[in-house]
Amino acid sequence: MTPSSAAKITVRVPAKVNVQLAVGAARPDGFHDLANVFLAVSLFDEVTVAPAAALTVTCEGTDADRVPLDPTNLAARAATLLAERHGRTPDVHIHIAKHIPVAGGMAGGSADGAGALLACDALWGLGSTREELLDLCAELGSDVPFSLVGGAALGVGRGERLTTLETGGPFHWVFAVADGGLSTPAVYGEFDRLTEGTDVPEPTASPALLDALRTGDPHALAAALTNDLQPAALSLRPALADTLAAGTTAGALAALVSGSGPTTAFLTSSADSAHQVAEALLASGTCRATHVATGPAPGATLL
Ligand code: ATP
Repeated sequence: MTPSSAAKITVRVPAKVNVQLAVGAARPDGFHDLANVFLAVSLFDEVTVAPAAALTVTCEGTDADRVPLDPTNLAARAATLLAERHGRTPDVHIHIAKHIPVAGGMAGGSADGAGALLACDALWGLGSTREELLDLCAELGSDVPFSLVGGAALGVGRGERLTTLETGGPFHWVFAVADGGLSTPAVYGEFDRLTEGTDVPEPTASPALLDALRTGDPHALAAALTNDLQPAALSLRPALADTLAAGTTAGALAALVSGSGPTTAFLTSSADSAHQVAEALLASGTCRATHVATGPAPGATLL
């Protein structure tokens, strides 16, 4: 597509759940080494870009009032970074249709960053390679490269060095949205506090988990799900334990906190079971909203 023919470009970007999040001890730079197994799920934001006199951001959706509309928005940062690399101004209006919970541990901001990068690249006719886009994603944040790629992947380092994983599936999930968000740095801070003085093992990907992903067996995946940030998220938000219990009582194969939380994730055996668990979770009064989704889902996609 040539830049002049494109009045508007929309990109659809997925949320993620970490099916394994193994966290190492804090490094001297404050970051943690991770073995992070990402699964993209069919809960999407849509990022639309259109030419404008200056960089502006708008957002619609239930949680839109919690999304910053200033230059700190990850989509705005992505547009600015791409424009800088190409010696141009980021003269673009970005509109985000927000469906991914905000500050929910599902990488919604990262998804919008990857979406804006791909959308602006198309709008401005830059023709960046996948590698170039992935490098810019890694500069924006450790979860951003995965939002571009989607599917399932193992991230090591700070989570940004990705290896794509083979998957069976689809796996059927329910996500329970909590009131308010949790700050990712605060959850890592609590992890450091809880693990202080203990021997934190090197993070490594679980062979049983990778096997379960590959074969598409939800029971095996349920048995292998782990999140080292879960105790920290529960320590900051004890009420999440009630949500987890409500989901397993309702028939979920497994329940865990999604990433840094406070969204909770429930793996189920079928689409029907997912809908039953979602209904029971809402009825339990332990969450604000639920979403049924499948994974793996594709990464950032031009619509
Ligand atoms: P992760 O799972 O990657 O740790 P998260 O899902 O917990 O992230 P986000 O929804 O990405 O959290 O938002 C974290 C914070 O980032 C928000 O509180 C908000 O202030 C800021 N932010 C910046 N850009 C965006 C965006 N496009 N959408 C949502 N939040 C954004």
